[in-house]
Amino acid sequence: MNAQLIRIGDDLVAMHAVATDEGVTLIDAGLPGDRRTLERALRAAGRGLSDIRGVVLTHGDSDHIGVAEWLRATHGVAVHVHEDDAARARGEVKSHAPGGAWKLPAAARFLFAGVRRGALRTRSIREVRVFRDGDVLDLPGRPEIIALPGHSPGSVAIRVPAVDALFVGDAITTRNVLTGVSTVAIAPFSDAPEQTPDSLERLRGLPERRIVPGHGPEFHGSVDELLGALAR
Ligand SMILES: [Zn+2]
Repeated sequence: MNAQLIRIGDDLVAMHAVATDEGVTLIDAGLPGDRRTLERALRAAGRGLSDIRGVVLTHGDSDHIGVAEWLRATHGVAVHVHEDDAARARGEVKSHAPGGAWKLPAAARFLFAGVRRGALRTRSIREVRVFRDGDVLDLPGRPEIIALPGHSPGSVAIRVPAVDALFVGDAITTRNVLTGVSTVAIAPFSDAPEQTPDSLERLRGLPERRIVPGHGPEFHGSVDELLGALAR
């Protein structure tokens, strides 16, 4: 099977498309202003919005659901999220407040870029489909769900062997959006950061060689190597 991983966005906020012969699975949904960027990236790969079979969210935070409600409402695309983040994706519970030591210029760049890309216009998702730990979704690339509570209760890793990738959402970042520092770390604002190390242990030994966070560049290497970098 032909399978391709397409990165949409940048190191501030990225979503990804897995394109196979069966269509496209979108992993996360960026910011509301990313519609044209998404369309352009799909077109460059010979695909279109009508090829999107589903959106799978690593978690329900606003900087990951940007174009999801638009895709659902206008293109009939189902949006999948872990049951413990469904209320957050629907906008029924508040997301964590940023904490920790901000470095103002980097944090400001993140916030300004976010605003420019429509972060203040984010629309909650009116209807979601829920999944659980261990589910394998019937979507292009057969995304496999591994629960990673910590950043949020329903944070997950999404394994897509077809493209040799493991999407870790905000459990780990390779670039701290609030400090601008490129480093492997647990995300700067998390509900229960103390849970994340135990959650990450669940990923040990997975064979995928492309570890993809929601913020920051892809990590080229195994998850065990990534966890080693995190420990240092
Ligand atoms: Zn995020």
